Amino acid sequence: MPITRRISSSKRIVIKIGSTLLVDPENGAVNRRWLEALAVDIAKCHNRGQQIIIVSSGAIAVGRRHLELKDGKLKLEESQAAAATGMIRLAHAYQEVLAKFDLTVAQVLMTLDDSEDRRRYLNARNTLETLLKLGAVPLINENDTIATDEIRFGDNDRLAARVSAMISADTLILLSNIDGLYDLDPRIHGNAQLVPEVHGTISEDIQNMAGKSMSYDGSGGMITKLEAARIALSAGSRMIISDGSKLHPLKAIENGVACTWFLPDANPKTARKRWIAGVLKPSGAIVIDKGALKALKYGNSLLPAGVTEIEGKFERGDAIIVKTQNGREIGRGISAYSANDARRIIGNKTSEIELILGYRGRDEMIHRDDLALN
Ligand code: GLU
Repeated sequence: MPITRRISSSKRIVIKIGSTLLVDPENGAVNRRWLEALAVDIAKCHNRGQQIIIVSSGAIAVGRRHLELKDGKLKLEESQAAAATGMIRLAHAYQEVLAKFDLTVAQVLMTLDDSEDRRRYLNARNTLETLLKLGAVPLINENDTIATDEIRFGDNDRLAARVSAMISADTLILLSNIDGLYDLDPRIHGNAQLVPEVHGTISEDIQNMAGKSMSYDGSGGMITKLEAARIALSAGSRMIISDGSKLHPLKAIENGVACTWFLPDANPKTARKRWIAGVLKPSGAIVIDKGALKALKYGNSLLPAGVTEIEGKFERGDAIIVKTQNGREIGRGISAYSANDARRIIGNKTSEIELILGYRGRDEMIHRDDLALN
């Protein structure tokens, strides 16, 4: 695929915006001109039918100036207070610039646990999926106000990569004040070369480049950017590191501006299925009837009606084996129900789930995107 189509062909794009682009370091004000230009780029993607998710930094940078906190390193409680003050201003700014294009911004504040704890992960994913389905633009940041050091990501590069993996985004764009990965520190070495493309994985050579050139990004961030790339690549998402300081940074990428692309060797769907198929210890099994087997082979989801038996103990979100009544394993999938709830709804119609369980869960026992057939 030509480079210039990598953005326009993406269905789902996560854009991470670094504070240096968004916040004036002198007075802590949001850089409106820049944000307005970004909104034009985002609206263009949206009009083409693409879904956009923004992961924005800058809450602390805006809040600390507003609260007139001193320069230098803040105490934890001060940065928490700054984040609380800055986030509301930041969210307003995004809402105002995007409202001009009739786009709704929805604020989602996350912590590390929301991407690690299975139940919270699924909840976060469902919320994001629903917002996207409704045409909103999720605006995500770390919940710095309540996150203490042990439980925080600390940087939005990795948070954005986790979000991309969570919602199977095709493309993750990291916009900061650096135009990509260099083989050497460009501030010291005049002959440093920008690496235009990295394929498949982050090799040791690539990792070493970040080590050598770490200091050229203000926040020391090339290492975290490569960690983000590792997460994105293994989830099948492409990632770009690009300089966003000029106006219209997305348009610049589409026009082929010099940047670094990280290209996975699978798409998000295949990567997810590969991961499901490779789970080492499935927690249980689901036995299905002939009708369901046929439906799965046609690419449909597994409904409770086609399940005859549940084996083992598992929770919602666990990987389980799918097998036929004569015990043959036909694949693996992620269960939308715990074993206990699954036992109560098997053999029943989807429309009866709510009546039986007392809550409205997923229509499918295993959604087809969560199913890897052998
Ligand atoms: N969550 C932080 C903020 O909004 C930014 C973290 C980062 O810069 O990566 O201020």
